[in-house]
Amino acid sequence: MKIADGVYFIEERNGGKFPHCNSLIVGGILIDPNCGIDLLQTVIDKIEIAVLSHNHPDHSALAWYLNKMRVDIYAPHPSTGVGELAERFAKGMEERWIEFATEFVGLRDFHAEIYSSSSDFSRNGHEIEIIKTWGHTDDMHLFLVDGKVLYSADVDLTDFGPWYGNPESDPFKFRKSIESLFDYDFDVIVPSHSKPVFGREEIERKLNQYIEHFDRRHEMLEELYERGMSIDEIVKLSPIYRKKISQLEDIMDYFERNMIEKHLQLEKKGF
Ligand SMILES: [Zn+2]
Repeated sequence: MKIADGVYFIEERNGGKFPHCNSLIVGGILIDPNCGIDLLQTVIDKIEIAVLSHNHPDHSALAWYLNKMRVDIYAPHPSTGVGELAERFAKGMEERWIEFATEFVGLRDFHAEIYSSSSDFSRNGHEIEIIKTWGHTDDMHLFLVDGKVLYSADVDLTDFGPWYGNPESDPFKFRKSIESLFDYDFDVIVPSHSKPVFGREEIERKLNQYIEHFDRRHEMLEELYERGMSIDEIVKLSPIYRKKISQLEDIMDYFERNMIEKHLQLEKKGF
């Protein structure tokens, strides 16, 4: 789908649902390649370089294929091996995460050059501003194209709401990062896991709705905790995921526990 001159949205077959994501092409740059290998093959000839918004496997899983096709990849973090990513994203259950990431998501080791928010990807007449965010992961970057189109990665505007289930995640920082997006004057937003949203009014409505998830979850979790429920009991109740994929229940429990503990700031309370 053409979003603007030289800017194309590639909608993954399932609308970008996990464990895949939607991609964006800007000039010869492919942002977040994990739109499915068949779709990727249809555009590979037009791609000069690929850029990862962050190293989460649902965004980076096809990076191995780009390596094979000799397309240069830029990642915001040096962790590009499955083992390194397991250590980073699932401390304490690395083996299980590796099984999940390789078998369920399709991740393989890959090579990438490292970029930062001061890197310059502007080319073929397109300006790309790289916006660093915090709280989803330590390495997530969004891309503002020609001042008008924002690839918002996992500020994904889904009904599920924001996700922050890794040890390095932080709901408070994530909320702030999302709020700071109001300072930019884009009028199209392209999320990794839902459809593009057009028009400033609709974008602001969606962003506000998305931010409300933080507060709703926070209040709900504090209430459950104050009622005397243990963390194990709250994880079992699953107020954030509500429904877990049966073959991923243990890994989703792990992520949900992280999210709950971060809201309740248990480390700070001495637990
Ligand atoms: Zn992510």
